[in-house]
Amino acid sequence: MYKQIFKIIKKFDNIVIARHIGVDPDAMASQVGLRDAIKLTFPNKNVYAVGTGGSKFKFLGNLDNFDGDYEKTLLIVTDTPDKRRVDCSDIDKFKYKIKIDHHPYVETFCDLELIDDKASSACELIMRLIYSTKLVADNKVMEKLFQGLVSDTNRFLFNNSTSETFAMVSRVLKDYDIKIADLYSDLMMRPLTEIRLQGYMSEHLTVTENGVAYIIITDDILKEFGADVASPGNMINSFNYIEGVYVWLAVTEDVKNGLFKMNIRSRGPAINTVAEKYNGGGHKMASGAKVTTMEEVNNLLKDIDKVASEYLKENGDLNED
Ligand code: AMP
Repeated sequence: MYKQIFKIIKKFDNIVIARHIGVDPDAMASQVGLRDAIKLTFPNKNVYAVGTGGSKFKFLGNLDNFDGDYEKTLLIVTDTPDKRRVDCSDIDKFKYKIKIDHHPYVETFCDLELIDDKASSACELIMRLIYSTKLVADNKVMEKLFQGLVSDTNRFLFNNSTSETFAMVSRVLKDYDIKIADLYSDLMMRPLTEIRLQGYMSEHLTVTENGVAYIIITDDILKEFGADVASPGNMINSFNYIEGVYVWLAVTEDVKNGLFKMNIRSRGPAINTVAEKYNGGGHKMASGAKVTTMEEVNNLLKDIDKVASEYLKENGDLNED
């Protein structure tokens, strides 16, 4: 299918590359990396990476505005399993649509869909696309893709880092001049306000009998720490590996959008099905959800606790001998 995707890319002079709302490094690096690889290969094509960015991810490059003719344009959507989360308007107006994704299948909304939910990241799929076709990359393209991959594997800590992932990274490091330490600092540098908020989160984490740890960060707390609404979510992976905790989540009040946003992680029970019930979704071990009331937050917490309890019943307490 990689070759088929390349053939279609070749045919179009205008290409828009989109990804999911709530940008993260894998989503953004996969679109920007693909855009830049297409531009290097076909300098005369107009290629746009669209969607709302975030100042935090400026190191991944700039985004573009598209106001061209949809009827003459190819849309490629990376890292997004469902139509409602594509950060691009009027997607059905495009002449042809391609999806490249590594989330569990949700729905078909493109003409051609490359889905591999065993792949670590959308960036790994773009690396494969480059290596399987005549697409050209340079150090900068591969640096971005590497950053997206590192982010979605949480620095190779998750089980989605397969032998294929390591083989791909090894190949990239052999073929391109990539200084990994500099790239890690782009990804991991954090403001002091966030570190102080992390201290608050650690101190106030509630842990249930079934090994679910959660924290509710209200707008007042965000203000107190001078932290951004995205900060609790940015830190969620720092709460991995707590003895007796199998699922952990941050609930953040987003007053501007009238929402509570949940970032949920697991190292046991599958959590994506619960997230799906609450206007969310994602991977089995890393999901997100968005609700509008505290009642829904509490219901989600109850449902998460239930899957954790079932998991413990089936598997026993993993910390006990
Ligand atoms: P996050 O906690 O934002 O890092 O997201 C973890 C995973 O869940 C990513 O694969 C996201 O694409 C997915 N995700 C986050 N929020 C939502 C949502 N509201 N709906 C569907 N998927 C989501």
